[in-house]
Amino acid sequence: MTVLSLNSFAAGKWVAPAGTITSLKSAIDGRVIAELGARLDFAAMIEHARTVGGPALRALTFHERAAKLKALAQYLNERRDALYELSYETGATKPDSMIDIDGGIGTVFVFASKGRRELPDDVIYLDGNLEQLGKTGAFVGQHVATSLQGVAVHINAFNFPVWGMLEKLAPTLLAGVPAIVKPASATAWLAEAAFRMIVESGLLPDGAVQFVAGSTGDLLDRLGSQDVVSFTGSAATANLLRANPTILENATRFIAEQDSLNATILGPDAAPGTPEFDIFVKEVHREMTAKAGQKCTAIRRILVPADHREAVIEAISERLAKTVIGDPRVEATRMGALASLAQRRDVLEKAALIGSEARQVYGAENGFAEGVDAENGAFVSPMLFACDDPDGADKIHSVEAFGPVSTVMAYRDLDHATALANRGAGSLVASVFTHDPEVARRVVLASGAFHGRLYFANRDTGREATGHGSPLPHLVHGGPGRAGGGEEMGGIRGVMHYMQRTAVQASPDLLAGITRIYVKGATTIAGQKHPFRLRFPELEIGHTLETAERQVTLEDIEHFAEFTGDTFYAHMDEEAAKANPFFPGRVAHGYLILSFAAGLFVDPAPGPVLANYGLDNLRFMKPVSPGDTLKVQLTAKAKTRRNAEYGEVRWDVTVVNQDGEQVAGYELLTMNQM
Ligand code: NDP
Repeated sequence: MTVLSLNSFAAGKWVAPAGTITSLKSAIDGRVIAELGARLDFAAMIEHARTVGGPALRALTFHERAAKLKALAQYLNERRDALYELSYETGATKPDSMIDIDGGIGTVFVFASKGRRELPDDVIYLDGNLEQLGKTGAFVGQHVATSLQGVAVHINAFNFPVWGMLEKLAPTLLAGVPAIVKPASATAWLAEAAFRMIVESGLLPDGAVQFVAGSTGDLLDRLGSQDVVSFTGSAATANLLRANPTILENATRFIAEQDSLNATILGPDAAPGTPEFDIFVKEVHREMTAKAGQKCTAIRRILVPADHREAVIEAISERLAKTVIGDPRVEATRMGALASLAQRRDVLEKAALIGSEARQVYGAENGFAEGVDAENGAFVSPMLFACDDPDGADKIHSVEAFGPVSTVMAYRDLDHATALANRGAGSLVASVFTHDPEVARRVVLASGAFHGRLYFANRDTGREATGHGSPLPHLVHGGPGRAGGGEEMGGIRGVMHYMQRTAVQASPDLLAGITRIYVKGATTIAGQKHPFRLRFPELEIGHTLETAERQVTLEDIEHFAEFTGDTFYAHMDEEAAKANPFFPGRVAHGYLILSFAAGLFVDPAPGPVLANYGLDNLRFMKPVSPGDTLKVQLTAKAKTRRNAEYGEVRWDVTVVNQDGEQVAGYELLTMNQM
């Protein structure tokens, strides 16, 4: 096999290795696989991102960016096989590669879908509700988010070269921010192959992505207030980089995922023989061996009730003994190699530190499959430790051996278990195996503050449980303290890391102009036609219909009650209704008000309104008594194009009585023809 020459991608051009060249070796047998070295004009790269990539991305709406992400995910998905092939040399088995490659592509799909469903077809995101700041509503406030105008520098870890790149790129690009990706050297050939596909797809605008195969040189010294660094790796590197004077001076955003001593707790109720015990043992084994334990979320500390400690050690050891360690290309292999010999050295050193406080209870010296190159390949056996004094110990709570290494410790009661879990001083995830909701609540209260994610599994979560170690694009990945204090993903929250939240204060008209969403109190448009006669493109935000009036009679209320079967006393029994502090006497049903409102504003003939598909934020503000009169204001509030045939219209509906007092308000959603 020829040695791959890993190129950087700078200012739209591929750049061959230069400067200090590093050789990268196969994790399986130590063959040189690739070489890299970056001598790049980082100032030009930043300039290219800021002046070419950023403006091009910001010219696209969230929906247009989401569509590109979806197309990109499809493009990569069709080319996965080539990536699997390269992934074996990182020591990863096929299931490991699926976490990395399919997991990464899946993350892009989720962000594409969330971008279309949860973000507007616009470039401004509204964060939270309108705040009325005065009595009349003449001055209002609204938080909005707009794209940062700088560049995101992504510094990734070696363990997930594809997922690590894509889980950062998807929210960044959705936010409209260009990125410079710097993969970890150890597995950079896989990251470069995936990155090359992204460029070759031609789907992203020029300048949206760049790639550094090698050292970042003075890149970080050149960042400013509009830039973001998103880092995954060791705490030592994170601390070094976040202390960069330029980053400090400019308050450049710095998001870090770093070491994490993740714990799992076997619930006090989960004795041997319960389904929870079995699920727990299976999960611990999987976490120790998947990616050969090189997962930032892997279980490092195993907390079990004192009575069950020996049973746990025995059950985990039994499973570990059946785990075939070897060449990841061989089908029988269940655990591959670490990413490099350097990592193996590091894992063995860290395991020795843990061993100074705990007994090793599992660790087969020669447990490798036949034919394994134990000298040049970065293979290690899983190592299980047991610590007899977890309270007095320090290293088992602070040293992360980034491999198949984990320590069992006994707890006295749940308070002790959560106190031990919290000794990790902030971690990405902790899991709990329990069938007792009270145990679950107590853990959340005692340990939530120390963990970015809490994972509860039991007999009911079954096959749908996603696994202790799987960060999901929908949910936050990150953790306090030792874990870096950062957050990634978490759905649209992850996009906001690359946008600026701004509190906008203005009149309703100005705010409606800024957001292109009708705001109560803004000028309305009384069109010639009924708004239901207008096609999606013709309908303007603010287009309003003021309806005729309709009186509500006692007969209406009784008829509605009999017809629907809703004969609740407030509508049917004058005396009982009067005794209720909310009602002056018998009142109209809320649903009757809604129905009459529709009767007032609907234009019945076939036309561009295809469907009514729901109401949001419905409130009944004042009771409607027999004899009251209703009138409706229907205003086009927001429009979202869905496809070439139709788009969604959100209508503001205000129902008032004869005194002009609002009795009901809601948002109506319709699909309108193009
Ligand atoms: P490092 O912190 O050494 O590297 C992480 C990334 O930072 C790599 O891309 C690396 O590039 C880059 N980097 C290193 N030094 C600099 C620098 N001075 N300027 C700019 N970039 C730099 O971590 P490793 O990947 O080597 O992993 C080491 C340990 O980190 C693991 O053993 C584990 O304990 C922990 N880790 C934690 C993870 C988590 O999310 N919790 C994930 C992965 C690792 P290069 O490779 O070229 O040096």
